[in-house]
Amino acid sequence: MSRQLFERVALIGIGLIGSSLARALRRDSPGTKLVACARRTETLAAVRRLEIADDTTHDPAKAVEGADLVVVATPLSAYAEIGERIAPALKDGAIVTDVGSVKQAVIRDLGPHIPRGVHFVPGHPVAGTEHSGPESGFAELFRDRWCILTPLPETIPEAAARVGRMWEDCGMRVVKMSADHHDKVLAMTSHLPHLIAYTIVGTATGLEESLKSEVIEFSASGFRDFTRIAASDPVMWRDIFLNNREAVLEIVQRFTEDLTALQRAIRWGEGDKLQELFTRTRAIRRSIIEAKQA
Ligand code: NAP
Repeated sequence: MSRQLFERVALIGIGLIGSSLARALRRDSPGTKLVACARRTETLAAVRRLEIADDTTHDPAKAVEGADLVVVATPLSAYAEIGERIAPALKDGAIVTDVGSVKQAVIRDLGPHIPRGVHFVPGHPVAGTEHSGPESGFAELFRDRWCILTPLPETIPEAAARVGRMWEDCGMRVVKMSADHHDKVLAMTSHLPHLIAYTIVGTATGLEESLKSEVIEFSASGFRDFTRIAASDPVMWRDIFLNNREAVLEIVQRFTEDLTALQRAIRWGEGDKLQELFTRTRAIRRSIIEAKQA
């Protein structure tokens, strides 16, 4: 759908997520001026080559000048410094949002820098691939996925509604929840699966040479899917685990207990226990397919 919600949008970080949003805005709202900000010259050269922004700069403060929407889309560890740098340059009445995968840490790091008169709407488009950088983005990334907004009690509803409309225009279903609840849900649905994938692939790399080469050769049987997840950006995932420490550790604890129970069932030949679990998990897969999230 085509409508112009914002006149000038600053994208601080223009990798997979930032550049996908830039492409969607280019397509649906051609009148919106887009400014892209990143640290590296190669990143901004790619943005110019791909023609996904009107202007590029290395300076976050310059990027946000005159912007009515600022979208922070860098790894989480850069947020505090970005907040400090953009604060004096933000236009009165502007909206600052983000796409970070953990929300309490974003409120902790970015929140204190948001000046009075600027609206802060933390957000998380739950869509992605294992690829990074501006070349890897595509406008359809967000289609039929969820976007979770975690506005603060003091956020005016109109600001959250405008950010929500932008993501809806990208094809997303928008939902609001508290940052704390978001972090618990994502620890289970995203962070734990990534941790498991990193562990499995890590275990394989520790095998002796002859076994390792066969694991790669015969990877089709399950292992391959984990290698795709474990190929996700190392910096981004380091930041996610360090910034959602409590929720991740809680869910890892539960997972470890369940794994131990399974280990025991295998040891004692308790086939009924195994079959009962595998039947329940199969039903989960069916409900994900029915919810069109497969
Ligand atoms: P990405 O492809 O690696 O892009 C990160 C971008 O940020 C790059 O353009 C990078 O360019 C720039 N950047 C890094 N540090 C910066 C700084 N200090 N100042 C300005 N720009 C900086 O990462 P992504 O996958 O788009 O992820 C971005 C955010 O989205 C993360 O917070 C992540 O949690 C969240 N997210 C990711 C996914 C996913 O599946 N990938 C899904 C949902 C949400 P330079 O290196 O040139 O600076």
